[in-house]
Amino acid sequence: MGEAERGESAPRLRISFWCSNGHETQPSFASDAQTPETWDCPRCGFPAGQDRDNPPDPPRTEPYKTHLAYVRERRSDADGEAILAEALAKLRGEI
Ligand SMILES: [Zn+2]
Repeated sequence: MGEAERGESAPRLRISFWCSNGHETQPSFASDAQTPETWDCPRCGFPAGQDRDNPPDPPRTEPYKTHLAYVRERRSDADGEAILAEALAKLRGEI
């Protein structure tokens, strides 16, 4: 079938996409196909764009760990201040 052969030999374009981690991926597209603005990076799953210097932002998923670390940091700061205040009070003979 001439039609199928023509489809298989259709020229394909390789388009480079870069994600915010600097990974490059080069999916190929049929020359008459519309190329998407972004492409999912096959290595890290982040969206990748055609502008190497300005890749799309990574998906905004707030990692639970970071939030927990933030809370812990705050708590230890507060504890540290309390301990310091107590130590100062002892030095001054207030306790
Ligand atoms: Zn990536």
